[in-house]
Amino acid sequence: MQCRLDDQIAIVTGASSGLGFATASALAEAGAAVAVNYNSQAEPAERLAAEIVARGGRAFAYGADVSDEDAVARLFAQTLERWGAVDIVVANSGMQKDAPSAEMSLADWKRVIDVNLTGQFLTARAAIRQFMAQGDRGVSAAVGKILHMSSVHDVIPWGGHVNYAASKGGVDMLMRTLAQEVGPQRIRVNAISPGAISTAINKEATEGEAAEKLMRLIPYKRIGRAEDVARAAVFLASDMADYITGATLYVDGGMTLYPGFEDNG
Ligand code: NAD
Repeated sequence: MQCRLDDQIAIVTGASSGLGFATASALAEAGAAVAVNYNSQAEPAERLAAEIVARGGRAFAYGADVSDEDAVARLFAQTLERWGAVDIVVANSGMQKDAPSAEMSLADWKRVIDVNLTGQFLTARAAIRQFMAQGDRGVSAAVGKILHMSSVHDVIPWGGHVNYAASKGGVDMLMRTLAQEVGPQRIRVNAISPGAISTAINKEATEGEAAEKLMRLIPYKRIGRAEDVARAAVFLASDMADYITGATLYVDGGMTLYPGFEDNG
């Protein structure tokens, strides 16, 4: 048995860069047709869609702000218009607006919660509605699969990033509650919690001297690559993971293993 996703249709939010980009590419490589969502960066999303098509796959790019209910509905409607169904939804979009808590503006608190938590809820809700409406298409053991892109900060508190950590803590309960609720409909809901993966969101923290400092927090002693996360996403979306629901897969080189204790604490 392989991690193949042939004949399946996927939507990946925030796929114009970083983990979403790599995940959309990997899902396509595994055989899925992919709706490549972007928010503001149309060019890289369109380039990725064109690359997938050039490789013989199916893809299109579509702009939608995941914190906007109508925009999420349009993203699903466009996908359905093209391909008639949706089987895999990766709620990946996320952002940071960092500040010490005492200085954090309400606007920055709200924007991060709106995109990272409400956006993931709106995406998952649209997925569940579609999975229930279409039923078993015979392309996968499950009726539908949802993946939330969370973070190690769903369990590790993070000073100076209270909006982000709260949003990811929220994603954990969102994911597990949905998994419990829609399990009887054979819909699987899981999360991936990446550690430090080199992407646009954390460029400064993962390069040069900062990267060396970061190594203290990573028992496996390397910064993650977007492909590390993309491979986990293909696995969780595939029938290889059919008995896995309500789970968080930490793709973090051991960052959640209390690395401060690796040398006797
Ligand atoms: P990134 O900045 O490269 O990508 C974020 C993506 O989200 C972009 O494509 C962006 O366009 C999209 N996005 C932002 N606001 C949006 C909106 N309103 N509507 C639609 N899309 C929107 O960063 P990344 O590292 O690839 O992050 C992807 C996800 O992985 C995020 O949820 C992030 O929290 C999570 N994550 C990343 C790391 C890491 O180390 N890179 C670690 C843990 C978690």
